[in-house]
Formats: sequence, C-alpha cells, structure tokens
Amino acid sequence: MTLKEEYQKKIDLVNKLLKDRKSTGKSDVTTAEYEHMRDVYQYRIDAMNRIEEKRKKVHVNNYEEMISQTASRRGTFCEKCGNTLKSTAKFCGSCGNQV
Ligand SMILES: [Zn+2]
Repeated sequence: MTLKEEYQKKIDLVNKLLKDRKSTGKSDVTTAEYEHMRDVYQYRIDAMNRIEEKRKKVHVNNYEEMISQTASRRGTFCEKCGNTLKSTAKFCGSCGNQV
C-alpha cells in the first residue's frame, strides 16, 4: 500500500467515525479533533498530488530538452565529414552529404 492509500484509508475511517458520531447527535471536542485529523490527511494527499504533478512536468521538460539537443547536434555537424553546418542546411557544403 502506498502512503497516499494509507492516508486515504485513515480519512475513510475518520469519516465513518464522524458519521457515527453525527448520527448519535454528538458534537464535541472529539468531533472537532476527528475533523482536524481528516483535514490534515487530506492536506497531505493534496500535497503529494501536487508533487506528482510537478514531477510529471519535469519529465516532459527533460524530454523536450533532449529532443532539442539532438536536433541541434544534427544541425551543427555533418555526420559524414564533420564539417560545421548551419542549423538550416539541407546538404553539407564540404562533401554534399544530405543532412
Ligand atoms: Zn560533409
């Protein structure tokens, strides 16, 4: 079980306890404590979700950077003779190799 699932389980449990308390008409300090506990776990889950989203974005950025680096490498040197090329060149000016 992941930490997030564990927190979710605790939230479900606290919600059940709160429901039981509400059905008996009880609303006291303990009820407030349960609600606070639930909010804390919910906050932790939200924080974990935000971190996961951030990680996903970092992944995509790395991927894009990887592609642009590969593209610029291909545009800089001729693979056949090593001549320096313009990034817009379609043929090598030295050996005529198609870039
Ligand atoms: Zn060349």
